[in-house]
Amino acid sequence: MNITVIGSINIDHYHFVRELPRPGETVPAIRTQTSRGGKGANQALAAARAGATVSMIAMTGADHAGGEYVAALSAEGISTSGISRDPAAPTGSAFISVDSRGENSIIVSAGANAALTPEMLERHRALITSAAALLLQFESPMETVVRATEIAAEAGVHVFLNPSPMPEEVPWDRLKVGTYIVNEAEHASLPANLAARIIVTRGSGATSLTDSGHTIEVPAFPVAPVDTVGAGDTFAGAVATAFSENMPPAEALCFANAAAALATLKPGAQSAIPIRSAILATLER
Ligand code: ADP
Repeated sequence: MNITVIGSINIDHYHFVRELPRPGETVPAIRTQTSRGGKGANQALAAARAGATVSMIAMTGADHAGGEYVAALSAEGISTSGISRDPAAPTGSAFISVDSRGENSIIVSAGANAALTPEMLERHRALITSAAALLLQFESPMETVVRATEIAAEAGVHVFLNPSPMPEEVPWDRLKVGTYIVNEAEHASLPANLAARIIVTRGSGATSLTDSGHTIEVPAFPVAPVDTVGAGDTFAGAVATAFSENMPPAEALCFANAAAALATLKPGAQSAIPIRSAILATLER
């Protein structure tokens, strides 16, 4: 099924340190690492590997990093015609410091992601209106997210929103969303009485779906996690794929739970996202 993902493209710069630096302090890095990230691209990749036909609407800089990133998404079978290059800004980046206890602090520099304006959506409107589903996050400008949900809703396209990272102010009443995908902290920030389906993921690995007052719960997929980075993004891409294929709700949650559980077994975000055959093999075990 066709899923269009609107969202961020970032280069993640990791610095592994013994202790996170305090204000005014300089600390040496034990190891550094660069990898592809951004919630939008992670979720697009998760949907594509889970079996969806994916188009992405996004922005990178006109720099080398952006060019390489778009080529990598293409190599995964993602349609990149909706990704534009901003000559005025660098490709987005995240600077992630991780200490010896696994505690982290992150600085995100939106870069070209900030140029994903509502006007850019008009250029790629057909990618939204012709999709079976639209999947978004909050790493894009809020006005763009709002407008994208409106275009999709007018065209009868189901909207999945993973409201992450959650800003202080969210115009909930203007967001036209069919399904929210939230972790426990985000769930606590959702207003009551949203007219939408709500899927809640939990750190334990269990998930639930509430639709019109009726809730189903799916237990955790039993694994011994190595690194949960990217598990939430994997879940979001996989669950949007499963629902777009009209899988029954409990089955769709199991499918996404298996995908996200597999993503916890390898370090890193994108390198840990499983392909469909691995998800199906896990479900048959
Ligand atoms: P986030 O990183 O967005 O907070 P969660 O921690 O809620 O995401 O996890 C997202 C999904 O990843 C879970 O719903 C589950 O499918 C999978 N997952 C995470 N932790 C585990 C775990 N310990 N065991 C099995 N699956 C897990």
